Amino acid sequence: MKWRNLGYFLFTLILPFNKTWGFRVFINMILFKLYEPMKNHLSFACGGEAKFYTEPKTIDEFTKTISECKKLKRKYFILGNGTNTLCPDEGYNGVVISTKALNNILLTKYNDKVFITLEAGVSLFKLNKLLADLGIEGLEWSYGIPGSIGGAVFMNAGAYGHDIFEFVDYVVVYSRGKSKKIKKEQIKYSYRNGGLNGKVVLKVGLKLICSCPRPIREKQLYYMKKRIESQPLDYPSAGSVYKRQDKNIPAEIIDKLGLKGAIIGGAKVSEKHAGFIINTGHATTKNILDLMEKIEAKVLLERNIKLEREIKLMS
Ligand SMILES: Cc1cc2nc3c(=O)[nH]c(=O)nc-3n(C[C@H](O)[C@H](O)[C@H](O)COP(=O)(O)OP(=O)(O)OC[C@H]3O[C@@H](n4cnc5c(N)ncnc54)[C@H](O)[C@@H]3O)c2cc1C
Repeated sequence: MKWRNLGYFLFTLILPFNKTWGFRVFINMILFKLYEPMKNHLSFACGGEAKFYTEPKTIDEFTKTISECKKLKRKYFILGNGTNTLCPDEGYNGVVISTKALNNILLTKYNDKVFITLEAGVSLFKLNKLLADLGIEGLEWSYGIPGSIGGAVFMNAGAYGHDIFEFVDYVVVYSRGKSKKIKKEQIKYSYRNGGLNGKVVLKVGLKLICSCPRPIREKQLYYMKKRIESQPLDYPSAGSVYKRQDKNIPAEIIDKLGLKGAIIGGAKVSEKHAGFIINTGHATTKNILDLMEKIEAKVLLERNIKLEREIKLMS
């Protein structure tokens, strides 16, 4: 048995690095995996190991873990579904706190309006399935975005002319040791930016319309078909690498500059969609970052455009 598989073992028993940290973790009964390979948690399927990895089961456990990290001055990274994130090949020397197990949904109906409260880890796939089953309209365009609702709100994920903030009513965040509910009107969100830097999304409140019996499922499948036709979904990736800027569409520029198919190691600019970098099987994070730098340098040199990255690097 590899020793990392001893993870989810009482931390104190196997932690020689820092007694204070171990003791506190023991007191709070937070369970960790040690040296967890991040490639198992990131859609790019590459990167090094996280020194500590945990999946809190409740919101209370989630905030307690963050607060312990702060008290002990341990750096931490909040991970949703890992579909827009890269981990350095050297690994992450901190605590990765995954929202994967925070999956509760509360739904209230008022006439034709539906208010849904979602814990941060609910996946957009699970949410869309529920909405289709109940005939609730609005988010069909997001079917096929493989993220969590927490990640989607943090990034203000969007597609086909919509974004998630169109449907957000409020966000419950954890910031400076306190949880608070922020109404959408108080949030400075913008294109692919939820305006929540420095805050952790605990829950999201959405406001949708119940329009039964509209064919929600058909609409979702229509958007999924568009994705399958235009995106390289058979390879690991993190979706579009760059943000759009007004009229500048990165995929078009990259294509016109002849960068489709460009390769560094196992990282390749997709032939199907030039906005995607794919892992052809053995890409390292460095391969992907080097390829991004190559693209950015050429676009700056030949078009005088500074591309803005959508993908987050754990640091
Ligand atoms: C095939 C494919 C297609 C895609 N298509 C689209 C698309 O059409 N539109 C689009 O917008 N994106 C798309 N993406 C990118 C990605 O799925 C979205 O940005 C998604 O919203 C990210 O969610 P996540 O849970 O995976 O976030 P992660 O990758 O886990 O995290 C992304 C960032 O959000 C932060 N974060 C995550 N959860 C929280 C939280 N609870 N509180 C605070 N911060 C948090 C992380 O720290 C990180 O900085 C695609 C990706 C893939 C692989």
